[in-house]
Amino acid sequence: MSAETLPEWAPRVPPAKIQRLYELDALGIQDEELLDEVGYALLARCQSFIAANQATAGQAACAVCGRLIAHSKIKEELLHCPACGWELTWGAYFATIQHRQLSGAEPVLDLFGEYVTQFPAAASPAEKMLAIDTLIHGFHWYYKFGPTRPVAVNLIKGRLGEVVAFLDRLSLGPGSTPGIQETHTEWKEKLDSIKWIRKPKDS
Ligand SMILES: [Zn+2]
Repeated sequence: MSAETLPEWAPRVPPAKIQRLYELDALGIQDEELLDEVGYALLARCQSFIAANQATAGQAACAVCGRLIAHSKIKEELLHCPACGWELTWGAYFATIQHRQLSGAEPVLDLFGEYVTQFPAAASPAEKMLAIDTLIHGFHWYYKFGPTRPVAVNLIKGRLGEVVAFLDRLSLGPGSTPGIQETHTEWKEKLDSIKWIRKPKDS
């Protein structure tokens, strides 16, 4: 093999597309094309997030054929795919995961896993909108403290403070899909319970 093939992870979704989705939704307009575009970009990101965590836990997917390769998390260890011959050290593999907002514990993996199942099964634009809305308003949880960090930073491009401010000012209106206002209110309450996050100015 001339060059090492590195694993690729789906990028975080640009906020502008999500903003447009909420602006239209607030006016009662459901743009199915945009819903699918945003929805499947989030789905790909969730799948990457789950696979990256699985790799970090000891089961790395081959970057060429996807076969799972068990490893012992030693940086020098050479991952070798018995199916296609692909090879890479665990250290080089792990370097593609670090500092890319691809790490989380069980509650987030469960939330993302649910979305991966639910979004493609959503029968109506409203169901799609609610699946997206529930996902991006999720939190990382720690059993002792409750919510610790919004998952939006793992799904949407930007720094934590920027992504929180972005979600805070998402358009809501009389035409918004029922349920969205409630989710937003709950999200703000949970956010307020996290002391160390920089809050948007007006909250
Ligand atoms: Zn392979």
